[in-house]
Formats: sequence, structure tokens, C-alpha cells
Amino acid sequence: MEKGLLIVVSGPSGAGKGTICKELLNRNKEITLSVSATTRKPRVGEKDGVNYHFIDEKTFEKMIENDEFLEYAKVYSNYYGTPKKFVLEKLNKGEDVLLEIDIQGALNVKKIYPDGVFIFILPPSMEELKKRIEKRGTETEESLQERFGSAYKEVEYVKQYDYAVVNDEVDSAVNKVESIIIAEKARVDRQKDIINKYKEV
Ligand code: 5GP
Repeated sequence: MEKGLLIVVSGPSGAGKGTICKELLNRNKEITLSVSATTRKPRVGEKDGVNYHFIDEKTFEKMIENDEFLEYAKVYSNYYGTPKKFVLEKLNKGEDVLLEIDIQGALNVKKIYPDGVFIFILPPSMEELKKRIEKRGTETEESLQERFGSAYKEVEYVKQYDYAVVNDEVDSAVNKVESIIIAEKARVDRQKDIINKYKEV
């Protein structure tokens, strides 16, 4: 059986990757979201096991020791990690898995799982990115400055991705992500099993 497609969506904070992923999952019920573990405290409305597995630092470090993460990173002084077993099992069963993770995490996944498709979400402009980060208003002033600073630097990493999607309008950005997924699945090297069935009759 062909493996499922690992879809990695990342980009700077405020580019809107969360909104895009949510809509992508709404439209495509067969795609499974990988729920990350984090040591960050839940924000209002966030649910354990749905948005993240909210765990303490000691538990997170134990999981690192036990090699339970496909990748993990410290983002804005909190740990975030992708559960390895869950993701690999789904892929091996032929299911598509979506990771919505930060850039350092995505580039680490690319090294160990280059078969994935790596999509970078770009904000419509740097001015718009700044506005979006400010508008969120869930952060302290210090953390806002930290997020602006890293967002500027992070855009540079787009060059290491397979695809870039500008998030000027959610629906059209999601259409583009869906088109990327369709095209990736049609690649010859992803359809060896099907192609091998075409024998002389
Ligand atoms: P937030 O705290 O706003 O939910 O997420 C902060 C950043 O961490 C976002 O860029 C988000 O995509 C990223 N993130 C979420 N889960 C993971 C993960 O498992 N690994 C990595 N490397 N980044 C993650």
C-alpha cells in the first residue's frame, strides 16, 4: 500500500497558517491533523487533546529522552513537539497527515522525512503581518516584540520549502494548498503500486 502524504504547513507567526489549516481540514475530512504536545499554557477556548496536548516541562523532557517526537522545538520559550508514533502509524496506513508547525520544526522534519510536502504560508505583506500579530492581543508586549523580530527573519526560510502560498484571502489560499496536495498525489513516484498494475494484457 502507498504511504499517506505528510503535509507540512508552516510560516511565520501571524501569516495565518492556523486559519488555512482549519479550513483545509474542514473541507477534507480524510486528512488527519497531528496534535502537538506543548508546555505552553492553554489560551482561552483551547482544549487539551484538540488544540494541543498540554503537558508540563518535566513530562516533555521525559518524552524527548524516550524519542517520542518526530521533531520538537523551543518556540518563544515553550516546547512544542510532533508525536512520532501517531504520525508514522497514520502514514503507514496510507492516511494523509497534516503538521502545522514552526519553521525550525518543519526544516527538521524535511531532513528526516523528505517525502513530505513542505508548504510555506506567506502573509500578504510585512505590514499586514505586523498588524495581524498585534491584533491577536493574546501576548505580552515583550512576547509581541519577540514575535515581530522572528517573523521578519523567518520569511527568509521560504527558499527551503517546496511551495509558497500567499495568504491574501483564506479561500483562495486553501484552494492553492488543495491543488498542491492533488498534484503531489499524482506524482509518478507516489503511485508506484498503481503504475505497476499496468501490465500487458
Ligand atoms: P502557538 O503558541 O501560537 O499555538 O504556536 C506557536 C508556534 O509553534 C506556531 O508557529 C506553531 O505552528 C508552532 N508549533 C505548534 N506545534 C508545533 C510542533 O509540534 N513543533 C514545532 N516545531 N512547532 C509547533
